[in-house]
Amino acid sequence: MIGSATSGRFETLRRKMVQQQLGGIVDGRVRDAMAMIPRERFVGSVMQPRAYEDGPLPIGAGQTISQPWIVARMTELLGLDGHEKVLEIGTGSGYQTAILAALTRKVISLERIGDLARSARRRLSDLGLSNVTVLASDGTMGRSDYAPYDAVIVTAGAPAIPERLIEQVVVGGPVVIPVGDAKSQVLLRLTRTPDDDSGHVQWREERFENCRFVPLIGRFGWKEQ
Ligand code: SAM
Repeated sequence: MIGSATSGRFETLRRKMVQQQLGGIVDGRVRDAMAMIPRERFVGSVMQPRAYEDGPLPIGAGQTISQPWIVARMTELLGLDGHEKVLEIGTGSGYQTAILAALTRKVISLERIGDLARSARRRLSDLGLSNVTVLASDGTMGRSDYAPYDAVIVTAGAPAIPERLIEQVVVGGPVVIPVGDAKSQVLLRLTRTPDDDSGHVQWREERFENCRFVPLIGRFGWKEQ
């Protein structure tokens, strides 16, 4: 289904994107997924000629589809082997969701803007990606009704480490999330470790690249302006 959903012109651009923009991404499964998912299907028709540029692009409602490199980097940091149930927060266009769906067993993806959730759901279904559930929901709360997750990825910038999300991942599972102020964040990987004696959630923190995401808005995120 996915192979027939893209034209030769875009296939050439996609191959170049993988060769020229994914420096430092060593996970072959991630590179293969980036070479397979048609990014042009996740932007509007006006943006399609720019779909393989090395940067974010507008997707409406003041939001963006992230730069290909950061999509690949965050996916690689999850260390997926294909068996996981992944929680994604910030569906946006659904592009990152599609990459995850190609690499793992099940994806639950949360988007706070109903219109974006609806169009992402349609795009993913048109591509035949049936292992995805997109829900219009405040991702700062996670979704305890589908928990526990093997991994969590947040694709909007959080003001602080969200303990509520770490509580919904299994011990040993990663939460990959940009944390910082509204203008710049650091990409963190928080790996859950066993709770302390009083049952309080614990984790190990690793820091990666600086990045810039749109804000994570919600009950445990930034407040809406
Ligand atoms: N990964 C997406 C893609 O491939 O298109 C791009 C995500 S965009 C940078 C961030 C998204 O997070 C936006 O669509 C925004 O509406 C969403 N968002 C922000 N706060 C949220 C929240 N509390 N819960 C769910 N989604 C949220």
